[in-house]
Amino acid sequence: MLTPVVDDDGAPFWGYGTQGELRIQACANPDCGELRFPPRPCCPHCQSFDSEWRRMSGKGRVWSYVVPHPPLLPAYAEQAPYAVIVVELAEAPRIRLVGNLVSGPDAPLNSVPPERIRIGVKVQVVFSRSGLPRWVLERP
Ligand code: ZN
Repeated sequence: MLTPVVDDDGAPFWGYGTQGELRIQACANPDCGELRFPPRPCCPHCQSFDSEWRRMSGKGRVWSYVVPHPPLLPAYAEQAPYAVIVVELAEAPRIRLVGNLVSGPDAPLNSVPPERIRIGVKVQVVFSRSGLPRWVLERP
């Protein structure tokens, strides 16, 4: 299982993840308020350094996906084929997160057959024990 590599800007994202919350950084300038991802110090819209972490519903749609096949690193080759998806968040279609489509928070990478994936299918975030966001089908 992958574990997060945490930097200063992204630390709150992972901290909320361990609490089971998907939060996205937002500009705290009241005239702007734009969401941004990945986390960074400065707003790309208004250049403000003030930010806050807004809670998301965790709902989204598959915007794109790939199904990796060997050659892969040995630990991944054992689990291939599995689904790597790009999720477009329901509240913020411009915010897209990369993750895995799985059957539950700590389920194996290959727990959902890749043929179940379709562009546009609705997914819901779940969090592994280490706080890693993963995705399950809204209608399994
Ligand atoms: Zn801003």
